[in-house]
Amino acid sequence: MATAGKVIRCKAAVAWEPRKPLSIEDVDVAPPKAHEVRIKVVATSVCHTDWQCLYEAGNASNLRPFPLVLGHEGAGVVESVGPEVTKFAPGDKVIPLFLPCCGKCDRCKSDKTNLCKKNWENMQAGVLADGTSRISCRGQQVYQFLGVSSFSQYTVLPDTSLAKIDAAAPLDKVCLLGCGVSTGYGAAVQTAKVENGSSCAVFGLGAVGLAAIMGCKEVMASRIIAVDINPEKFEKAKEFGATDCVNPRDHTGKTIQQVVVEMTDGGVDYALECVGSPVIMRNALESTREAGGTCVIAGWTETETMSVPVIKILMGRTLKGTYFGGWKSAEDVPKLVEKYMQKKLKLDEFITHSLSLAKINDAFQLLVNGESIRTVISLGEETDKPERTPA
Ligand code: NAD
Ligand code: ZN
Repeated sequence: MATAGKVIRCKAAVAWEPRKPLSIEDVDVAPPKAHEVRIKVVATSVCHTDWQCLYEAGNASNLRPFPLVLGHEGAGVVESVGPEVTKFAPGDKVIPLFLPCCGKCDRCKSDKTNLCKKNWENMQAGVLADGTSRISCRGQQVYQFLGVSSFSQYTVLPDTSLAKIDAAAPLDKVCLLGCGVSTGYGAAVQTAKVENGSSCAVFGLGAVGLAAIMGCKEVMASRIIAVDINPEKFEKAKEFGATDCVNPRDHTGKTIQQVVVEMTDGGVDYALECVGSPVIMRNALESTREAGGTCVIAGWTETETMSVPVIKILMGRTLKGTYFGGWKSAEDVPKLVEKYMQKKLKLDEFITHSLSLAKINDAFQLLVNGESIRTVISLGEETDKPERTPA
């Protein structure tokens, strides 16, 4: 590629500070170093976690430095590779991974977890393995969100944070497998291991919750109760396989857990929390049945504490969490892409809007207003010419 070894000047949506809209800027993306890959991001979707990180940073704002390029649900094409990269070549279609999969650490070798620790601290701190980011703007370093930053036309990732996927895969669809759909679907089939004939309740009907419903339906759960305070989400939930839809606000005088327990004569076998609220997490746990009920938390919070009556756990309930749906990212994401290509996994049905990068703040609004499930941002061709060679 003509751009290999050169700094690429391109467009990115930069978060200069918390709780301010993103700003479209010209950024410089440095060439990849050893064991790094530079990719051209073709499409990215917008996940609740991106919004949360910007607008609900709260006490956690010191966890993630600004300025920052958000975005972690993308898909693209390898532009160039750094020294010692063996698994990728220019032109490969890839999905960036906010959870790496080095294949070598004790966690990667264990079948009990997917939480690879490769580059973990650096990724959380917004930098790559050498402690710096490859993105800069007006001469200032711009941090990479979870080591990814898909709200940029180009980005650089470690070679352990990429999944090579089918060359025929449509990037504007499979980008959803970079986070939300994989997480919700995996929460049901991998972490909860929902069984045929079981009863389930899914709290929160965004992409994560709908994907959890998709997983429950695939394994033939007999009852799938979809819970949301936004009734506009119910039609889609039914399309994905919900058997009942409940709006907690329709049941004054009763908690949502009381409603679910009554509906199921004692509680569901599996409850999946896909909102990101400690209150709902407790509600979800208390919606499961005694003696064997399981609650899986997929919703995100880095700072809040959850309170649970101990007796609920003592009476035989299990509380679990899931990060990226329990998938071994680099190994499993290509398989999920194949499943989509074989029409055995829905993706198109999650996409309600498509926008250009310039409209990215609108995508955030659509998400938090509950008007969208996923908006796919196309990063277009605008400016991908090399501007200059690195200093
Ligand atoms: P989303 O905003 O599209 O959906 C959230 C849904 O929750 C909305 O439909 C909203 O109406 C509903 N909701 C809000 N308050 C509620 C309440 N009190 N009761 C019931 N429903 C309520 O979000 P999303 O992109 O689907 O993400 C969902 C959560 O999953 C977020 O917290 C996100 O950060 C998290 N997440 C976690 C992981 C992981 O690896 N564990 C990955 C991706 C996303
Ligand atoms: Zn996400």
